[in-house]
Amino acid sequence: MAFFSSFKKTKLNTEPEKETRELEQRAASAEAKSRRLESILSSMPEGVGVLDTGLKITYANPRLCSLFGFNSGTEAAKKNSPDMPLLSFSHSEELEAAAQQVLATGRPSELTVKRYASGVEQHFRVFIAPLDMAGTGQGVVIVVSDISRLARLEQVRKDFAANVSHELRTPIQVVKGFAENILNSSQDDREQIRHFAEIINKNAQTMENITYDLLSLVSLEDENNPRPPMEETALAPLIAEAAGMVEIAAKKRDISVEIYCPPDLSAKLYGSLIIQALVNLLDNAIKYSGAGSRVKVYAYEEERQLVIEVKDKGIGIPMEHIGRIFERFYRVDKARSREANSGDNEIVSGTGLGLAIVRHIALLHNGTAELESHAGEGSLFRLRLPLKPDVACFD
Ligand code: ADP
Repeated sequence: MAFFSSFKKTKLNTEPEKETRELEQRAASAEAKSRRLESILSSMPEGVGVLDTGLKITYANPRLCSLFGFNSGTEAAKKNSPDMPLLSFSHSEELEAAAQQVLATGRPSELTVKRYASGVEQHFRVFIAPLDMAGTGQGVVIVVSDISRLARLEQVRKDFAANVSHELRTPIQVVKGFAENILNSSQDDREQIRHFAEIINKNAQTMENITYDLLSLVSLEDENNPRPPMEETALAPLIAEAAGMVEIAAKKRDISVEIYCPPDLSAKLYGSLIIQALVNLLDNAIKYSGAGSRVKVYAYEEERQLVIEVKDKGIGIPMEHIGRIFERFYRVDKARSREANSGDNEIVSGTGLGLAIVRHIALLHNGTAELESHAGEGSLFRLRLPLKPDVACFD
């Protein structure tokens, strides 16, 4: 009897304790799970939010707050609970309408939202799905990815394709037009036929230059392009070689190219690419200077950098164009450039890619390309290259 009574007593006392322990364990495990979930959601690169049936945001992970510029310092943001309507949070009626529709239809939806934050265009890919939060009612979950960089790259790709087609269209049209002229010309008018053929030839040359420069750019931009290592190279012979390559063009316009470079100046670089950059700069300096003027090339060392400058006293570049001058296909005087191939002058119009190539060559040396210029007062193009570049990089 005594045995049973003591057993019963123990059993009676231990049951609630066990239950309490179990409850405590379950609570601890639920808390651990929730903390784990919270830290997963906090470290996600995507923004995640939960909205109730009134489209009020009841949960937002830190990324969602930062994507929509919601102040992360506020108490609500710290608790991951902005507790505000989606529209006030996102300022996107499009997103509000899409979430409304998901609530109404119960079907998930995906959309791209474009917005501006401090003047910067942002593109978000948003996935919205219905959510049945066991017992706490219906709602929707939104997952937001920032695809702004991808959208910008896509825009660059589209612009580039449009630019290339545009640049090629003009010379193609001229070639077509003058070929037709030849076909319609009287066989006896050899002088005129010759004139048309020269224009065709000049435009074919432009197209060849464009394709050559495009291939050059592609190869410079390709980080996987195998390249022999940079070599310690004397500057003076490189500059002399580049000057030699533009000699005929310079002579035609009675322009002298003067070189100022210490004979012992050398740096670790890709010699042939530096020649290519210099030829582009010299070619421009000659093209955009008055007959009889002087073009100067300076090379010197400054603060462990090699500095190469090409200076002319030509037409110069107005201030408003300077920021964009190294962009592909950017030209100051587009009309003039296009006219060049359709008339009697000897100039083959430029490709608009020369300075973009120069900039890429500087970047490949971990350096920079700069311009100082004033309209009517000439231009100074400057390359700054580290004397001993460690790693090449692209921006
Ligand atoms: P392009 O083949 O048209 O010369 P570039 O990329 O070499 O193309 O140059 C872009 C534009 O920059 C030119 O069309 C011209 O308007 C301007 N430019 C370049 N170099 C000079 C210079 N030395 N003087 C005046 N304008 C220049």
